[in-house]
Amino acid sequence: MDLVVKKFGGTSVGDISKIQGVADLIVRYISQKNRRVVAVVSAMAGETNRLLHLGRSCVASPVPRELDVLLSTGEQVTTALLAMALCERGVKAKSFSGWQANISTDRNFSRAHIKAIDTKALNQALEGGFVPVVAGFQGIDDEGDITTLGRGGSDITAVALAAALKADRCYIYTDVPGVFTADPSVCSSAKLLRQISHEEMLEFSSLGAKVLHPRSVYFAMAYNIPLVVKSTFQEGSGTWIVKEGKLMEKPIVTGITYRTDEAKITVSKLPAASSAFGALFKRLANEGIFIDMITQTGFDGKLTDISFTVLDEQSSLALEITQNLVPELRAQGAFCDRNIAKISVIGIGMRYHTGVAARIFEALAKEDIAVEMISTSEIKVSVVVPRKYWEVAVHTLHSAFVGEDLTIEKESQDEIRSAV
Ligand code: ADP
Ligand code: ASP
Ligand code: MG
Repeated sequence: MDLVVKKFGGTSVGDISKIQGVADLIVRYISQKNRRVVAVVSAMAGETNRLLHLGRSCVASPVPRELDVLLSTGEQVTTALLAMALCERGVKAKSFSGWQANISTDRNFSRAHIKAIDTKALNQALEGGFVPVVAGFQGIDDEGDITTLGRGGSDITAVALAAALKADRCYIYTDVPGVFTADPSVCSSAKLLRQISHEEMLEFSSLGAKVLHPRSVYFAMAYNIPLVVKSTFQEGSGTWIVKEGKLMEKPIVTGITYRTDEAKITVSKLPAASSAFGALFKRLANEGIFIDMITQTGFDGKLTDISFTVLDEQSSLALEITQNLVPELRAQGAFCDRNIAKISVIGIGMRYHTGVAARIFEALAKEDIAVEMISTSEIKVSVVVPRKYWEVAVHTLHSAFVGEDLTIEKESQDEIRSAV
């Protein structure tokens, strides 16, 4: 018997009529022979933010353990509502919280990692003919405390469950028809991708495309789980995340992503060979601050400027730590620029072609956009530009790289039917 995991995001279960629509979709799916499904659900759209504000309006810094108890309730509501809707349609269904589904995590509240899943309870439900409806985004640690996996974490639950249950496929249902060459809510000319490789999707997700959580892509890649992103609201075969070897085409550039939630810290005029640098990055790491890009500019033979990017929300702490180290670094000062955006150009074909960085500079220069920082890897180039230009930069780079030749044709109706 075929077993699939179907995950429904916040907008897909955003109100009662949408939850009923999801119940209908599941009923249609299992009405055909030899089909079993495990559903994973997010909290209703806006609910996790509402709970977060509730906690923060109660106290300025909620205790992490209690914040996770609070946030986990959002998903629990949806599991019960969807299970009820399925039961009303004559389908045997049962809701499962993270702990009932035995999803074990470490103890990092609000960003816990799944360690193991004991599938006994879920398998029992499946054998009994039930559709298990599992709460995404949550688990339980060794001390029996509820944990959450970080924003967007229901995607991780879905793929990890698919791996643990040895499911045939995992579907991520969302409010767009799949993964596009750029965020379709920003770039109306963005094209739907029929396929994308794991490596590219990891870059897409980490560099801003929130359509899939990066750790869910990691699980799909590590456990070889066929992963599909598709729309809850319209027909279509969506985007398949596949092994590089299975790609039908390898465009030089597959897509463009952006992030506007990072800040740049600059340490100015310090001796280039400063031994205190190691100490600075060590101290930042000890405080749990994630450093992204690092660049050195203005080297005059003796003194230099060093800039690095951090998450906006960690920038005040990062600046404080850096400023405290200014005397030790023998620098002139340290300051923070929050008005930056990071735009990334991603494509597996960059492995075999050069010249992408040059074309990025040309395209941005035409719009008078200054590039403040640049970093590259085998399959991506990221640039930092002033935040006010982020949208223009996305459009410019999208039209410079994602040309007509890379258009992915609309799938035939036959394919749609066979892939659903
Ligand atoms: P869900 O609530 O279903 O988990 P998310 O809001 O987390 O949905 O992710 C879907 C959103 O991701 C889309 O509405 C879209 O605006 C955004 N997005 C960003 N980049 C992309 C991209 N390259 N392709 C598709 N969607 C993208
Ligand atoms: N409800 C959680 C969030 O809003 C998890 C998810 O939707 O994936 O981040
Ligand atoms: Mg999401």
